[in-house]
Amino acid sequence: EVIGVINITNKKHDKLFNQKDLEFITSLANQAAIAIDNAKLYELATKDGMTKLYIYRHFYTLLENEIRRCSRYNRNMSLIMMDIDNFKKINDTYGHLTGDTILKRLAAVLQETVRKIDIPARYGGEEFVVILPETDKENACVIAERIRKNISEIVVKIDENQNLSPTVSMGIAQYSTDGQEAKELINAADTALYHSKHNGKNMVSTYEKDGCKKVEQINIDIQQEIQ
Ligand code: GH3
Ligand code: MG
Ligand code: MG
Repeated sequence: EVIGVINITNKKHDKLFNQKDLEFITSLANQAAIAIDNAKLYELATKDGMTKLYIYRHFYTLLENEIRRCSRYNRNMSLIMMDIDNFKKINDTYGHLTGDTILKRLAAVLQETVRKIDIPARYGGEEFVVILPETDKENACVIAERIRKNISEIVVKIDENQNLSPTVSMGIAQYSTDGQEAKELINAADTALYHSKHNGKNMVSTYEKDGCKKVEQINIDIQQEIQ
């Protein structure tokens, strides 16, 4: 199976390539092919085919690593948990293919909106998570609001007269105030997410020990410095 081509030209000192060069390059190419194959397998094992985001298992490993790093160096980290609003109704009304299109578009917007250091993943069916390294709750709120706004601006064309725009509800929890272990942190973000669901959806809430809080609209434009 051909997976690539190497083009080698202009040997030094105007010399011609010989059989030995060919053997050397062939063994190099075979090594490169193995490395490329391994990279493809790694991608298949860690990423979801539909959204191209990390799958749950890999996300969990990365979260545990991040928690260890934060604990060791006493750093901040936040977690966003996100769920599409009324997604079952979208599937039931417009079909699962439209639902799939929304999942793909939403994942792409999520990936484009977060910073390079952030780690978005598909937690399950229509649920997503983002690990925000080096981020306290206040800054996580700004990022979450930016994600929420960008997602609500997605337009999926149903037919000539009908467009569809998804919305999401989100919950935020911060390490280590809201959870010291992966499970605990996920639970806290989940509790905040359900606060958003129960208070009208299409909103962000933060986990607080004495009751979750809705994040009031933040002017995202004047907060651009949090990149
Ligand atoms: P809520 O606002 O409370 O979150 O309501 P909801 O309808 O979004 O929640 P519910 O859990 O009832 O429905 C989630 C739906 O997501 C049901 C399931 O069929 C759909 N779903 C999960 N994975 C996929 C997928 O890969 N493709 C499509 N098209 N639908 C999916
Ligand atoms: Mg759900
Ligand atoms: Mg949902």
